[in-house]
Amino acid sequence: MKIKLAQSAIEGSEINQLERVTGEELKRCYQCGKCSAGCPVSFAMDIPPTQIMRFLQLGMFDDVMKANSLWVCVGCLQCYARCPQGCSVANVLEGLRQMVLRKGEDHYGVKEISARFLEKAPQQAIVCGFRKFVS
Ligand code: SF4
Ligand code: SF4
Repeated sequence: MKIKLAQSAIEGSEINQLERVTGEELKRCYQCGKCSAGCPVSFAMDIPPTQIMRFLQLGMFDDVMKANSLWVCVGCLQCYARCPQGCSVANVLEGLRQMVLRKGEDHYGVKEISARFLEKAPQQAIVCGFRKFVS
């Protein structure tokens, strides 16, 4: 019964789209928790990596899209390196970020960042930020 619920949830169009974009098969995750345990920033996430996978398996796409986890992730790939199932939460979060950015929403008020801050911020951080903040 539970397996049927998870499978029908994954058939939702946005979650299908996420799997297509990322090449990740969400149902492969069996909730061992190794990704969350190794993630250096999971303490700051609304929904840690393991729960991101579970929420998506259950079709809770809107809840995941609202989480700060998408933007807190630093893309270190530790979750992928530790996953016994070969799942990459990093990929899933990148796919989710792309889906948010394609809607044209500015989550961080990028246009309001002062020129003074940009002058002082490390160039590498600014360039990396393009992936998160600019569609
Ligand atoms: S890629 Fe993101 S989710 Fe994965 S371990 Fe690094 S910070 Fe955490
Ligand atoms: S490490 Fe892999 S299998 Fe384990 S909870 Fe994370 S994504 Fe799922």
